[in-house]
Amino acid sequence: MSIQVKGLAKHYGQQKAVDEISFEAKPGKILGFLGPNGAGKSTTMKMLTGYLKPTSGTAKLCGFDTQMDSLEVRRIMGYLPENTPLYTDMYVQEFLLFVANTYQLKDAALRVKETIEKVGLDPEQHKKISMLSKGYRQRVGLAQAIIHQPKVLILDEPTSGLDPNQLTDIRELIKNLGKDKTVILSTHIMQEVEALCDEVIIINKGKIVANATITELKNEH
Ligand code: ADP
Ligand code: ADP
Repeated sequence: MSIQVKGLAKHYGQQKAVDEISFEAKPGKILGFLGPNGAGKSTTMKMLTGYLKPTSGTAKLCGFDTQMDSLEVRRIMGYLPENTPLYTDMYVQEFLLFVANTYQLKDAALRVKETIEKVGLDPEQHKKISMLSKGYRQRVGLAQAIIHQPKVLILDEPTSGLDPNQLTDIRELIKNLGKDKTVILSTHIMQEVEALCDEVIIINKGKIVANATITELKNEH
């Protein structure tokens, strides 16, 4: 299994933001993590990355424990946070080279070029991130998440705030990027799950309320 979560919980005082959830994700699949605002999606995504310490339970990526094996996890995991804080005053190439260097990638310049092409940015354009539209900024966000060729990709509300044209393009891009990875994608939009995902987990008030393939989900309607 590429993602293995057991009894994962995060409490903030009395509040159980995530309440002992368990699930798995298979290699090469896109798993939707669907739920309303405040359900515990972002908290779960942050625990999967290892950046947020669980109150209890474990999360493993390709067998590596996100708390115990943080170096390995950082290498095999790519993360697009909700409302990605990008360094908007940097040029796209400059920013991605900076990210590539934090991973100490060999051939960093080549990785930057290939990644720029992979996410559909124009390698001939030299623009500051602040000059890009929201859709193109999101491509930069995806680029920083995949530049080190991670096995597991964690996307937190990757299409929120995009207009319909950008939405279609970014969904298409995520589908393509997901082909050789395991992707977990959080969203509050059912159509997003239907458009993109192989399986879905529905979370509400910190608890998993359903776990199904998309075919099963559609047949229930
Ligand atoms: P979602 O991503 O599904 O909208 P979150 O994971 O962001 O939900 O939040 C789940 C619950 O935990 C919410 O009620 C939220 O207010 C609460 N929460 C999240 N982060 C914190 C925090 N740092 N401190 C206190 N409460 C938090
Ligand atoms: P929108 O789809 O929001 O109308 P535009 O096509 O007008 O976006 O482009 C918004 C910004 O993104 C402009 O600065 C534009 O030059 C830039 N941009 C457009 N296409 C690319 C591309 N392939 N690579 C990098 N930047 C681009």
